[in-house]
Amino acid sequence: MFDSKMLTSFVIKSSLSKYSNMKVGGNATYLLAPQNVSDLSSIIQKAKAQNLKILPVGGGSNILFGNVGNRVIILDAYLPEFFQVDNKIVTVSSNMKISSIIDKAMQYELGGLEFIFGIPAHIGGAIHMNAGAFEKCIFDYLYWLEYIDLKGKITKIDRKDLEFGYRTTSIEGFIVKAAFKMDKKTKEKILADKEDIISKRFERHPYDYPSLGSTFKNPKGKFAGQLIEECGLKRLQIGDAQISEKHANFIINKGSARFNDVAELIRIIQKTVKEQKGIELELEIKVIN
Ligand SMILES: Cc1cc2nc3c(=O)[nH]c(=O)nc-3n(C[C@H](O)[C@H](O)[C@H](O)COP(=O)(O)OP(=O)(O)OC[C@H]3O[C@@H](n4cnc5c(N)ncnc54)[C@H](O)[C@@H]3O)c2cc1C
Repeated sequence: MFDSKMLTSFVIKSSLSKYSNMKVGGNATYLLAPQNVSDLSSIIQKAKAQNLKILPVGGGSNILFGNVGNRVIILDAYLPEFFQVDNKIVTVSSNMKISSIIDKAMQYELGGLEFIFGIPAHIGGAIHMNAGAFEKCIFDYLYWLEYIDLKGKITKIDRKDLEFGYRTTSIEGFIVKAAFKMDKKTKEKILADKEDIISKRFERHPYDYPSLGSTFKNPKGKFAGQLIEECGLKRLQIGDAQISEKHANFIINKGSARFNDVAELIRIIQKTVKEQKGIELELEIKVIN
């Protein structure tokens, strides 16, 4: 068990549904909210000593919570925020929202990350997932990052020493800080690009309901959404979870969807696409169960 003093300092008694953009989730034994990096490091060390897995949570825009067992769920939301500019290098705390980094950098006429404008994510989660869109990814701009490894030690690492791929990275631990090499760009151009990106997102994605974005990765040369649509699965609903009519790779919560409803839709999609198309769809979202 965790040291009870440590628990009372950081524990949050709240449903996990509050911390997932899908608004699905029950209770966790350990839902912790450290308020500084040194407390975060001690939590990670204690978890390691007790063989408990940790789960960092940023914006929760890619996590589906099921039965989380004894996992130590750690929110970044209460860590201190910071934003610093030095020439074209922007250094931020991992818990900053993507939109606010883009808006703040714009004041210095620095841009580049606009392609992910509108994603309800924190930058730490976006780095962990190597978030991307419109043929760009966050690693195109990452310079270095600092993370707390699974032993609780703070480590700084350059982008060139990290492995990353399509929605995947080699980082094991809790990212706390990151630096980006931005492009010099006028405010007018940044504003225009933001507007363009957001209108494309609203046109293609179901922003009017809770979701986790694309449920599956696109298989090589194909689009998961198109495959799901061609299998006739659009609008399929289980409980309050539904395959979006607007974009078949999005599962939306139409009210009070439960974990099992979403999990069942995922199972049906994978089975049907395999049977009809011979393709195994790989999850992009993180299912914690
Ligand atoms: C409407 C909508 C649109 C979206 N569009 C896109 C898109 O265009 N492109 C795209 O790539 N994704 C998209 N997504 C998915 C999602 O926003 C991204 O995967 C995003 O990068 C997740 O960031 P987050 O902070 O919400 O991470 P979370 O959901 O909190 O976590 C995701 C993963 O990252 C880990 N993690 C979180 N914080 C940290 C940290 N500080 N250190 C280490 N690991 C951490 C978590 O443990 C988990 O494994 C979309 C989602 C929604 C809801």
